[in-house]
This record gives sequence, structure tokens and C-alpha cells, in this order.
Amino acid sequence: MKLIDNHGRQINYLRLAVTDRCNLRCFYCMPEKGIDYVERSALMSFEELMRLVDIVTKLGITKLRVTGGEPFLRKDLLGFLQMLKESNLEEVHITTNGTLTHDAVPQLKDLGIRSVNLSLDSLDRNRFDLITRRDRFETVWRTFIQLLTYKIPTKINMVVMNGQNIADLIPMAELARKYEVDVRFIEEMPFNGTGSTPDVPWTFRTIHDHLKAHFPTLALIPAAESSTASKYSVQGFKGSLGIIAAASRTFCGSCNRLRVTPQGMLRTCLYGEGTFNLKDMMRAGATDPQIMQAIVEAVGNRAKDGFEAESSRKNGIVSESMASIGG
Ligand code: SAM
Ligand code: SF4
Repeated sequence: MKLIDNHGRQINYLRLAVTDRCNLRCFYCMPEKGIDYVERSALMSFEELMRLVDIVTKLGITKLRVTGGEPFLRKDLLGFLQMLKESNLEEVHITTNGTLTHDAVPQLKDLGIRSVNLSLDSLDRNRFDLITRRDRFETVWRTFIQLLTYKIPTKINMVVMNGQNIADLIPMAELARKYEVDVRFIEEMPFNGTGSTPDVPWTFRTIHDHLKAHFPTLALIPAAESSTASKYSVQGFKGSLGIIAAASRTFCGSCNRLRVTPQGMLRTCLYGEGTFNLKDMMRAGATDPQIMQAIVEAVGNRAKDGFEAESSRKNGIVSESMASIGG
């Protein structure tokens, strides 16, 4: 069975946030005091998540990303990854801040994790500390090297923040010269948990032009239609560069993803408020066919793009933390 939305887009990718907790405080993601974490009992249990995986694979979902919050803060994450390995999914990926990941890398390799997205917003220790409000640069760097050592395909995600880490753009891009890594620059989105809207002069175009000025051989690489990143090669580079128009939202026309928040809310768009709560439905005794039907209906009412989803919010503008959604 295929899951097709009301705009003809096939959904085959689920992003699953397994916790909203985090040990960093990246200022583009949450306020210094953190966010109000949900009670543990309000998180979907691993059993409930595996039931969901069983249902969505029957609907044609083949790819899953485990995210959060920081997924490695979820107790027995590796046990959960083992269960995912035994599921009908074809690909499991992880997004992590790399602070608690280093020692797990050999097991991630054994578990067949297809790729890891590692968040790293600066190569300068002081700037890293300022952005994350924690002193963990060395740890994250060791994780990066460990991922490469174990040959797990790795992408670096750097959120480009005006006045904060612009000096890191070129050094970060240079990592792809030396290492086989995809370095991706992400437009800053308003999911900072404060309700304030960031000034985003560093759009896709500005980032592109800045890179092109330094790397004249920057050339677009054809990518999968559903990819949110525009991918580029540079002559002499082992890896590649990417730019994600996360705030401009130019890729919505081919979006193939669903999201489930740590509390079990199904989101058919990052910018929307969510459709219905899977965990509540399961705990109320719904059968698998009923849950399947609810997913099909939610997907059948999907917003055309992130702008339509945002404007249909009942509770006003985007203000929640990305950690409470799963970026
Ligand atoms: N804690 C993990 C991490 O940082 O990789 C996983 C969760 S984090 C919410 C997932 C991704 O969302 C990270 O790559 C992070 O940089 C990105 N992100 C968070 N807030 C963002 C924002 N306001 N704008 C753009 N990207 C954001
Ligand atoms: Fe934590 Fe990731 Fe949000 Fe940073 S981006 S505060 S590491 S959840």
C-alpha cells in the first residue's frame, strides 16, 4: 500500500522524536532555562513506537529517522534501535548532537544505521559554547572522527545564524575537502521556544553566493526529488556541501515525510500544529486498522506547503522548540 497525500506526494519517510529532553541549550532551539519537558509517561513507549512502525511500514514507509530532543538521552535507545533493525524498515538514520554518541558508534555500525546527522554549528570552541550554552566541543568533535573511523555516512548540520557563526561557513565547508562528509548549511527557523522570530538575512541565496565566491567550482549535484537539501560538489573535495532552505520552504512541493513528536502527535508538516495523537489513540484501545485509517485521513488533508500549514495554526505563530517536535 502507498501513502499518497491530497497533492499527489508519496510519503515514505517518518521522523520520530523519541524524547524532548536535551543536554544542550542551542539558542536557536530553546531558551537558556530549557523547555518544560513532558512527563516520561507522556512519551510514547518503545512498544507503542514499534506498533506504530509496524503500521506505517504497511502503509509504505521505508525510511525512518530517530531524532529528538537528544535521542541518546532516551534510556535504552540502543535496545530500541535493535528492535528497529528487526522491523520491516529499509533504512534507519539518526540525528544527534554528538555529546553522548561517541561510545555507541561501534554499535550503531553493527545495527546497520544508514547515516548520522551530526549537529555542529561552529568549529571555534568559544562560539560553540556560546551557541550551545555548554562546553562540549571536544566531545562532539571526537564523535565526528569516530563516525568517520567506523565509516558511517555522516552529515554535519550547521544552522546559519546571523551575527553568530558566519565566520564558520568557510572553515566548516573546508571539512568536506579533507573528509568524506556532507556539510549542510540550514536556514534558521523560528522554532526556538521563545516566540521570537529570528532575523534571517542568511537565506539559501546568500549562503550559496557566499560559498560560490570562495569556491568557484561549486556545482549543483542532482539529488533525489524529495531531498530538502540542494547538494553541491567542489573540485578537490572528498565530501559535498548542502544548503537547506528550511525557512524559505522551497522544497515543500516534493516533501515525502511525516513527523511524530515525543508525545505522539502526528504532524504532516513541520510548520503545522499536528493532526491527532497516536499515543492517546493507542491508549484508548484503537485497533491497528483504525490507526491506519486515521493516518491515511491526516495525510489526505495535508497542507500544500509550510506557509499554508503555518497560517492554518489555531494557536498563532510558530513558537515551540524544535526539540519538542523533532527537527
Ligand atoms: N538534538 C539533536 C541534534 O541537535 O542534532 C536532534 C534534535 S535537533 C531538534 C534536530 C536538528 O534540528 C538539528 O540539526 C538542529 O540543528 C536543527 N534545528 C533545531 N532548531 C532549529 C532552528 N531553529 N532552525 C533550524 N534548524 C534547527
Ligand atoms: Fe538540543 Fe538538538 Fe535542540 Fe541543540 S538543536 S538544544 S542539541 S535538541
